[in-house]
Amino acid sequence: MSVADLALFGGLPDYSTPLHVGRPSEVDRQRLQRRIDGALDRAWLTNDGPLVHELESRMAEFIGVDHCIVVANGTLGLQLVAKCLGITGSVVVPAFTFIGTASAMSWIGVEPVFCDVDLETHNLSPDDVVRRAPRDVGAILGVHLWGRACDVDGLKYVARKLDAHLLFDAAHAIGCGHQGRHIGGFGVAEVFSLHATKMVTALEGGVVATNDADLAERIRHARNFGFGAKGQVVAIGVNAKMNEFSAAMGLTSLEAYEPARQHNAALHAAYANALNAVSGIDLIKPDNNQWNYHYAVLQLSEPDAKWRDLLLRILWSENILARSYFAPGIHRTLPYQNSANGPKATNGTDELVNSRILSDTLITLPTGSQIKTEDAAAIGDLIRFCYAHRGEIEAEAARRGDTLKGLSDRLQISPASTGR
Ligand SMILES: *Cc1c(COP(=O)(O)O)cnc(C)c1O
Repeated sequence: MSVADLALFGGLPDYSTPLHVGRPSEVDRQRLQRRIDGALDRAWLTNDGPLVHELESRMAEFIGVDHCIVVANGTLGLQLVAKCLGITGSVVVPAFTFIGTASAMSWIGVEPVFCDVDLETHNLSPDDVVRRAPRDVGAILGVHLWGRACDVDGLKYVARKLDAHLLFDAAHAIGCGHQGRHIGGFGVAEVFSLHATKMVTALEGGVVATNDADLAERIRHARNFGFGAKGQVVAIGVNAKMNEFSAAMGLTSLEAYEPARQHNAALHAAYANALNAVSGIDLIKPDNNQWNYHYAVLQLSEPDAKWRDLLLRILWSENILARSYFAPGIHRTLPYQNSANGPKATNGTDELVNSRILSDTLITLPTGSQIKTEDAAAIGDLIRFCYAHRGEIEAEAARRGDTLKGLSDRLQISPASTGR
């Protein structure tokens, strides 16, 4: 293979159909169909149906917590937790996460205060929270990014000092653990997402996990217009219920967790095998053996957005739709750039250095049951080839300048947007 064979420079693409990040893993369709038929036969499609109940008890068992409340999506789960805890004012949020972590809070009138993350773990830095959190902050919302646990003890210590609630966005972390414990039982509550791009999916859905019985009950009421157990209105609520078809999918997808995890672990090993010897690139590793392997994330050792973006374009032109999760950092997005700890418009400095570096240096590679281990090995080999011929590739890309731009427009490259 030579540089001229790259599809970006006119060669044939490696794949005729696109390989995606975040496609749902295969489920047992007959079981799914039986569950859906059951709901139709019962003529019970929503409102605390038996499939929702079953999903809640299976989830509580799987996650190892006393209470799981399933909801329409993870965003509503985060909002219900914050509302039912009475959080007002501001909440600490990492600047490097999916936009939904922060916007969920803004939408209910709680202002996100962005703090920086650790360059190695990609998770909220307790030291930075100490540095930046206002004294009257209502809560700290940690994110177990890529399913790797936050510094739970460090954040707990800081939350106690600030007299703030500690909760977690565990959207990525189903099946993951920390120091021998499941993610789901830390802080006052943790919220998982069952969106179609996540490891376990209910099409759209979320799970609030908590060991606090009172909070669980308040959330149950609030998710159903504030109706209490006897049908009387006991609180102000909203509609955040999950329907029975989604619960059918959630149950069937949860049953497929273990094979999906093993498949993703094999993809991870294939990526690692191709890339371990390449200097300048790291495939992020689990911090322990309780990991779902859902995300295969490459960290480029140099903060070099230009080379990262060129690599993404090379991959996209081969029909390998890798992503730059998450670029830019939330604090630099349009709605938040003038917020607390946003890059100050006046001097243009960005104080959240690690978040900026990560948003310039990561590439998320395809995983899931639609990707074969041979594909992962081939993608790894392609990236290794690009590193071996980096100078030549950069020179050729520079020479082609505008034509390259035309090509990427045709390919509708938008690697920063979310998958399906
Ligand atoms: C997916 C995701 C969410 C939003 O979950 P939804 O179920 O789509 O509402 C929130 N935070 C993170 C980190 C996510 O990845």
